[in-house]
Amino acid sequence: CGIIGYIGDGRASRIIVKGLKRLEYRGYDSAGIVTEEDGKLYIKKGAGRIDELSKELGFPEMPGKRGIGHTRWATHGIPNDINAHPQTDCTGKIALVHNGIIENYRELREELLKRGHRFDSDTDTEVIAHLIEDELKSGGSFEEAMRRALLRLKGSFALGIIYTEEPDKLYFVRNESPLVLGIGEGENFAASDVPAFLEYTNRVVFLDDREYAIIGKDFWVVKNLDSGETVEKPVQKIGWS
Ligand code: GLU
Repeated sequence: CGIIGYIGDGRASRIIVKGLKRLEYRGYDSAGIVTEEDGKLYIKKGAGRIDELSKELGFPEMPGKRGIGHTRWATHGIPNDINAHPQTDCTGKIALVHNGIIENYRELREELLKRGHRFDSDTDTEVIAHLIEDELKSGGSFEEAMRRALLRLKGSFALGIIYTEEPDKLYFVRNESPLVLGIGEGENFAASDVPAFLEYTNRVVFLDDREYAIIGKDFWVVKNLDSGETVEKPVQKIGWS
């Protein structure tokens, strides 16, 4: 299972498909991609092999210069097209991918159902999108809402999150599931493992548990999930060999 995110001037979907291929060794049963252009999300996903899905659904033809890809190793909900990630909220403005397990998803789902949320999938992942949507209604920035929502999660998660209303950013979160940033020139990456983006950059920032990153085309920042405060992170150079 794996995650690869891209934001820059390139065709996001092409870079993401290549990245997903490089993460195949980690194992998976489904794959999916979300990209964004002109405030609209494009989502293609399904159970099966990346090559086949890519041909069938046209992964490389998806528009947009930012996006996130995912390979799923199902833990909650059978491997099928609906349970594949990305998962979305009710408004369709938030899409996210997840590796790991949300241990308290049942309670959260019950609570959200009572508040009128409707779920498409059987995944533990989908509650995260709805939780963020719910917190957004209570006000503040997307980042604050996301952080409040994530503080309620128990379990392991590497997340990639895209929000239509913030066209210049992607969010990535790490807790007990690996995540690393790739720092480029006028483009940035995030992935479960360095090979996903190594052909574009060898400058990397390893996230630690309970940290999240906001990346744009020309900036990146890492913050502590619990305090919301910025964390100074070293940029490391990986050998090309
Ligand atoms: N628990 C999530 C699911 O079953 C994510 C699985 C994964 O790590 O790929 O959908």
